[in-house]
Amino acid sequence: MKEEIQAHEHILDFIGNTPLIKLKKIAQGLKGNFFAKVEAFNPGHSSKDRIALHIVEEAERRGILKPGSIIVETTSGNTGFSIAMVSIIKGYECILAVSSKSSKDKIDMLQAMGAKVYVCPANVSADDPRSYYSVAKRIHEETAGSVYINQYFNELNIDAHYKTTGPEIWKQTAGKITHLVACSGTGGTISGTARFLKEQNPNIRVLGVDAYGSVLKKFHETHEFDPKEIYPYRVEGMGKNLIPTATDFSVIDQFMKVTDEDAAHTAREISKTEGIFVGYTSGAAFQAVRQFAETGEFNENSNVVVIFPDHGSRYMSKIYSDDWMREQGFFDNQKVEESQIEYV
Ligand code: PMP
Repeated sequence: MKEEIQAHEHILDFIGNTPLIKLKKIAQGLKGNFFAKVEAFNPGHSSKDRIALHIVEEAERRGILKPGSIIVETTSGNTGFSIAMVSIIKGYECILAVSSKSSKDKIDMLQAMGAKVYVCPANVSADDPRSYYSVAKRIHEETAGSVYINQYFNELNIDAHYKTTGPEIWKQTAGKITHLVACSGTGGTISGTARFLKEQNPNIRVLGVDAYGSVLKKFHETHEFDPKEIYPYRVEGMGKNLIPTATDFSVIDQFMKVTDEDAAHTAREISKTEGIFVGYTSGAAFQAVRQFAETGEFNENSNVVVIFPDHGSRYMSKIYSDDWMREQGFFDNQKVEESQIEYV
């Protein structure tokens, strides 16, 4: 029999179907079984590949995107990278407004992927003309034939996870999942995944992870937007200073806030103990697991799936830099590990 060349048409074929990996050392001492859905296995190294592909293909189906169209978006970096990747393959131009809080690594990567990037101040209100929302909106309005992805207010963001992440987790756990733990930024990941899972089994507990300095947890509890909750924080991609409509609060049972410091240390610990090199919010997600465990949320029969949204390589100048950690004061209360680097 003649052998055929085994090649994929393009890199987008690898989006989704990320592995579920059992967590061992990091979960020692906790009641239950803990599994990570490792989204860094997407070709763009984050969960955002799923929404970029889904939203772009849906816009093509609806005839909104045409060859040569310009795609505009606001992004903490990950969505931008995914949109830039999808744009290259599909032949679109890509303009991105990012927050100055995004790591330099992320901003440089967007440029490396051919996107035009506007870096906007992080600590201004969403309706300030300099905010990354306002800048993206203005570019979209000024650029004829452009398409604004608008991930915070796009129902297709939820839909992408409803159609992919949710069914994957259901299948990978053979329907035995009892808890889902996921960070909330736009809310697309947690909402779409939870909506699918709760349709299969309404008893699954859905636990959201929020940042100190964000309004999401309070809004979930009180249905009120409280601007007093807002102050600068360091973890990138989760928490929010507005209420995104891409979050379906009705499928989330409870939120937990975690500190920047705990999230950073936990991410470093996951990398060192599990060999899974994770981003900042993966640390936040597992820190939330620990805090939920303290409240008695889990028992021996719990099967807890935690979403790890992206890869550690995006944070080399932040949580994986000892200098950065020291500057933040994150080593003040912790013993600093000795450097393992020796120059010969
Ligand atoms: N972690 C990281 C690193 C992210 O970039 C994002 C997306 N902003 C999230 C978590 C949260 O995902 P979602 O927007 O789907 O809520």
